Amino acid sequence: MKAKLVEFLTCLNCGSPLQSVAEKEDSTLPWTEVLEGRLVCQQCGQRYPISRGVPRMMSGSLPEEVEKTVNGFGYEWQTFDKHIQDTYMTDKTNFLDFIAPVTPDFFAGKVVLDAGCGMGRFLKLAADFGSQEVIGVDLSGSVDVAYRHTRHWPNAHVIQADIMALPLKPVFDYIFSIGVLQFLENPRAGFDHLTRLLGGEGSISVWVYAQENNGWVIRLVSPVRKYVTSRLPRLLLYGLSQGLGLLLYPLIKWVYKPLNENKLSVNLAHRLPYNDYLYYSSQLSYGGVVSIIFDHLVPRLVTYLSKEELAGWFSLERFSSVTITSRNNMSWRAYGVCSIVVGAETACRDI
Ligand SMILES: [Zn+2]
Repeated sequence: MKAKLVEFLTCLNCGSPLQSVAEKEDSTLPWTEVLEGRLVCQQCGQRYPISRGVPRMMSGSLPEEVEKTVNGFGYEWQTFDKHIQDTYMTDKTNFLDFIAPVTPDFFAGKVVLDAGCGMGRFLKLAADFGSQEVIGVDLSGSVDVAYRHTRHWPNAHVIQADIMALPLKPVFDYIFSIGVLQFLENPRAGFDHLTRLLGGEGSISVWVYAQENNGWVIRLVSPVRKYVTSRLPRLLLYGLSQGLGLLLYPLIKWVYKPLNENKLSVNLAHRLPYNDYLYYSSQLSYGGVVSIIFDHLVPRLVTYLSKEELAGWFSLERFSSVTITSRNNMSWRAYGVCSIVVGAETACRDI
């Protein structure tokens, strides 16, 4: 943990500033990293541990379904990390595809929040794009992977915390949350929690699963996931995902990809099920495809959101410059600029 992260943090109990107390430090970088220690509230005395370089700021126990989902994703990112490094999944083109219309120059000088940073693949890119500071938050143990990947960036920070109770000041210029809100008990509530952290004219991007074009997934796959695959021992689910990957990967590489790239067959390709998504997936490595299969089978909780519902989140009473576009014909990416300023510090409160 870098000392300047403390400026952005507040006590979960009382909202007061925190003070860092270091017990073990790493001084091999141009700055000092606190590896072990604690954050102490100046007002109420509440303590938050800093462990393996990451402040652990969870507010209490989680509902069982949420905890199981969080643990599943924690396992996923720690297991698949080595398989997807330096592949399309960690590439800036992929990141920008999730947050369009935002471009790399948009990040310059901004204070940014990556809400649900997983293994930190987009956190690292946001730091590279020139953010003033970028803070990655995740509830799962994947924060250890995210910290390992980003500790060498002077402007990147990681904390372990819940989107529903973030110990952060409302000072963010830009928040992005990619593939996270649909796994909350109440996605809309999570979105509203995030928007309260935007500073004046801050903006937010989210990417979520679409209700549209996912009818058979919702009707057939979701029950199997909820009652079977999400309850399997992780190693068994990992093996099952590898097996399904062996079936799906050749189909993607040798059927979807060539049919889409030959002008004689592209019309036929457009009639294939999930063509946009599976053609997109042809850019992934085998490990990347397996990680996506695992990702679809591990969560207990998933909400598929309609465009109408998302438009309600980004109501024109609260946001300007709103864009909601389909990504791969199976998901929505939305962007908006908060257009309400309340007082000097907090913008985009619920109205
Ligand atoms: Zn306090």
